[in-house]
Amino acid sequence: MLEITVDHGVTLQKDGKVILLDPTRMPKRSPSVIVVSHGHSDHFSLKVLKAYPDVPKIMSRATHEIIDPNKKLRNIVYVEHGETIEVAGIEFSAYNAGHIIGSLQFSFNFDGKDFVFTGDFNLEKRLILKPAQILKGDVLIVDATYGSPRYVFPKRSDLYREIVAVAKRFFEEGSPIIFKGRRIGTAQELVALMNASVDVLPLVEEVVARHNSVYEMHGEWLGMYAYWNGQPPDMPLPIIAGLNSRSGGKIPKCICTGWVKGKLAFPLSSHADYDQIFRYIKESNASLVIPFCGFRKELADAVSRELGIEISYADKTRI
Ligand SMILES: [Zn+2]
Repeated sequence: MLEITVDHGVTLQKDGKVILLDPTRMPKRSPSVIVVSHGHSDHFSLKVLKAYPDVPKIMSRATHEIIDPNKKLRNIVYVEHGETIEVAGIEFSAYNAGHIIGSLQFSFNFDGKDFVFTGDFNLEKRLILKPAQILKGDVLIVDATYGSPRYVFPKRSDLYREIVAVAKRFFEEGSPIIFKGRRIGTAQELVALMNASVDVLPLVEEVVARHNSVYEMHGEWLGMYAYWNGQPPDMPLPIIAGLNSRSGGKIPKCICTGWVKGKLAFPLSSHADYDQIFRYIKESNASLVIPFCGFRKELADAVSRELGIEISYADKTRI
């Protein structure tokens, strides 16, 4: 019997073969292979990756640059969109996830079943990155970060228009404004948006600029920007900073993350919203869905009620 465990990552095991997907805690059993979907810190643990130097670790080059810039990890197996590799006797096919630079989703056959592991994904066309395509499989392991109907985001074009209006208004009023977004993902989209729509040079916090360079190295042009030294600028330029940045003192802040909305807050997220997650599940042809992260139970209730597809939010599922 094949066992799927959702606990600080997802583990698939059968007859001594163990596939570890996005582990953030030491696993109970030694893995045969580890997959890291992308470079956000809630999808990997350096401690786990270091603990298994001989175990192959599948990820994209951009993900490796983000999580291990000094290249200390051993046994990294690179894969990019459109490639298939065989590791530990299993063929893994990788596809764009459309979430952050280097983010991948995977399909693979294990114990006669076609699995899809989405990692974090985004199906929407944006200024940067290509959207994810919906993969078909028997078992869908899907990100449920925003798996609640409370999180349906406005259209991208509407969000862009409102954010640009805020940037222009502050510029015309002679005040800088700090747009805060997750430092890998939303922050780069904000840099590209300022370049595409506001005719002034954005300033960028150092921690954001460091990740901009990974985007640029992998072909994502974000446009021009200058480094921000954390002090109020002489000109009323828009500033892009990390969500947790403490710099900027009394400079007005506009928060950009899927968790908020308001006058100076916009649900601009690199994640799929509820409607996208639902669409993915519906079109995946999966006969079993395993949600991970976020609103797993809420999503499971809605999917089984409205689509009639088997969906398990238990920590352990045996098939
Ligand atoms: Zn992520």
